[in-house]
Amino acid sequence: MEIVNPATEEVIADVEPADAAEVDRAVERARAAFPAWRRVAPGDRARLLRAFAALVREHGAELAALETADAGHTAANARWEAGNVADVLDFYAGAPERNHGRQIPVPGGWDVTFAEPLGVVGVIVPWNFPMVIMMWGVAPALAAGDTVVVKPAEQTPLTALRLAELALAAGLPEGVLQVVPGEGGVAGARLVEHPDVAKIVFTGSTETGKRIARVCAGQVKRLTLELGGKSANIVFADADLARAAATAPYAVFDNAGQDCCARSRLLVERSVYAEFMDRLSEAVLAVKVGDPRAEDTGMGPLISAAHRDRVASFVTGTPYLQGTCPSGPGFWFPPTVLTPDPADPAFTEEIFGPVLSVVPFDGEAEAVRIANDTRYGLSGSIWTRDVGRALRVARAVEAGNLSVNSHASVRYWTPFGGFKQSGLGRELGPDALYAFTETKNVFISED
Ligand code: NAD
Repeated sequence: MEIVNPATEEVIADVEPADAAEVDRAVERARAAFPAWRRVAPGDRARLLRAFAALVREHGAELAALETADAGHTAANARWEAGNVADVLDFYAGAPERNHGRQIPVPGGWDVTFAEPLGVVGVIVPWNFPMVIMMWGVAPALAAGDTVVVKPAEQTPLTALRLAELALAAGLPEGVLQVVPGEGGVAGARLVEHPDVAKIVFTGSTETGKRIARVCAGQVKRLTLELGGKSANIVFADADLARAAATAPYAVFDNAGQDCCARSRLLVERSVYAEFMDRLSEAVLAVKVGDPRAEDTGMGPLISAAHRDRVASFVTGTPYLQGTCPSGPGFWFPPTVLTPDPADPAFTEEIFGPVLSVVPFDGEAEAVRIANDTRYGLSGSIWTRDVGRALRVARAVEAGNLSVNSHASVRYWTPFGGFKQSGLGRELGPDALYAFTETKNVFISED
C-alpha cells in the first residue's frame, strides 16, 4: 500500500498489506500470548502500561510528525493527540490494580464475582484520528488482560506500526499488541470473522459498522461500535453570541471536518440569525488553510482525492460563504458554509469535510425537534445563558456526548459513544475496562 502525504500528494511509505493468512498468524500469536498475559500480576501490568506511556511521551514529537505527514493533522492537533495516547495509557494503567471484583458472604458460602479478560480483541481503526482511536481500544483491553490485534485504516497505518514497536520496547511481551495493516475487506474482514477473536472494537462508518455487526451476530461476538455523526450546535438568542460564533467554525472545521463529533448542523434562533451570520462569516474567513506543519495553520487537507470528490458532491448550488485554500498539490477543500433546506443531503448526511450547514429555528421545542431529526446521535453543543434551558435541552437531545457553552467532545476520563446509529456501547472512562471483560460469578460452599 502506498502511503500518501495528503498535504503534498508525495508517497511517504510503502507498507505490505496483510492478507487473511497473515491475520490468522497474528491472531494465533495473540492467542498464544494470552494465558501468560492474563496471569501478569496487576501491579506488573500497571508498570508495563506506564512504561509504554512514558515511551510514547518520549517519542511524542516523532509520533506527532508522523501523524501530520500521514493524516494531514495540524502540528498543534497532532501534538495534543500524541499526549492523549500517553494519557489514555496512564489512565488505564491504574485499572488492573482496581479490578477487584465483588464478594458477598452468604449463608453457607461465598459469592464471588470476577471481571475476567476476554482473550484476543480486534481493534479496527479509521483514518481520521489514527493513533488516538487505536489507543482508546488498546489501552483498556491490555489493562483488562486481553491481547490485541489492531487493523489500522489503509491510508494511515504509520503511527499504529510505530506504537506497536514502542510497546515492545517498553517491555510488553511479544504477541500482546500487534498491528496488521491491510485492506478493510481483506484483513479487517478476516479479523472480524476469525473464531478466535473474542471481541471487535470498530470505529468507522455506520455502513461498515452494520456489516461487521451482522458477522459478529453469527458468532455472538462481543462488539463495540463507534460510528458516524451529524451533530447539532444549537445557539439560542440569549447566548454569548460572540463566543458562540467565534468557536462554531472549529466545532466543524477541526481536522478539516473529518471528525465524528463535528457539529456540522448549526441551528440558530431566528431572532439573532442575521447578527449571528455576520459574526460567523468573520470567524470562518479567519480560518487559515494550508501546510499542516506550520504553527499558524488552522486547517489542513482532506485525506484523499476520492474523499475530496465526495465532500464536493454535497456542495450543490452557491454556498453562503466559502473561505480559501491552496490550489494544490494536496487534497484541499475550503471552509464552506451552506444554508440548505433541512431536507437537503448536506443537512442530513455525514459529509466528513469542512462543510457547515446552518438553519434558523423558532423556540426551544423546534430546536430539539430539528436536532433529533437524524439517524445519528453522537455529540452536540447548546449555547444559552439560561441554566434551566441548558438543562432541559441537554436532557432532550438524543446524543451520547453534549456540551453546554463549549464544544468539548472526548475526554478520556468520561464515557464516549453514540445514541441511535452512531454506535453501540461506550469507550473511555472508568467503566470501559468492563467492556473488555466477561463477568463471572462463582459460589464457594463452606461445606
Ligand atoms: P470505514 O468504515 O470506511 O473504515 C474504517 C475501518 O474499517 C478501516 O480500517 C477499514 O479498513 C475497515 N473496514 C472497511 N471495511 C471493512 C470490513 N468489511 N470488515 C472489517 N473492516 C473493514 O470508515 P472511514 O471512512 O475510515 O472513517 C470515517 C467514519 O468513521 C466516519 O463515518 C466517522 O464518523 C466515523 N468515526 C466515528 C468515530 C466515533 O467514535 N464514533 C470516531 C471517528 C470516526
